Amino acid sequence: MEYDDELYREIILEHYKSPKNKHVMEDCHLHEGGVNRSCGDEIEIYVKLDGDKISDISFDGVGCSISQASASMLTDSVKGKTLEEVESVVGKFKNMLLEDGEADFDNEMSDLESLQGVKNYPVRVKCALLSWNTLEQLIGEAKKK
Ligand code: ZN
Repeated sequence: MEYDDELYREIILEHYKSPKNKHVMEDCHLHEGGVNRSCGDEIEIYVKLDGDKISDISFDGVGCSISQASASMLTDSVKGKTLEEVESVVGKFKNMLLEDGEADFDNEMSDLESLQGVKNYPVRVKCALLSWNTLEQLIGEAKKK
């Protein structure tokens, strides 16, 4: 797919302006927070588990458009998936931003591809990865249970 900078910018802005699943979850099973000091981004992630499945996920936070849009896309793309499936998505996403990996997500997750342009701005990669690193930590905690 041709990289469409303009379209991707719009997708990111849309998630920033109307984020998905952005709210505090009082009755969550797991909660993890992360901070990106270089930009001042803060993210909290809340998860409800049903067996080994993420039955519900939400986030809350403040920060730049990249960090907040990325968190919104994250919640959208991992809801309803097993921890193993989620780990695979996280791996692909990090691969896309850190290792020049191919951006090949399922259709439902194609919004994630809009963040591949962030690679061209190394200081923003941390912004895009904040929520994903936070989720990775949370999964680590989930597996200990
Ligand atoms: Zn940021």
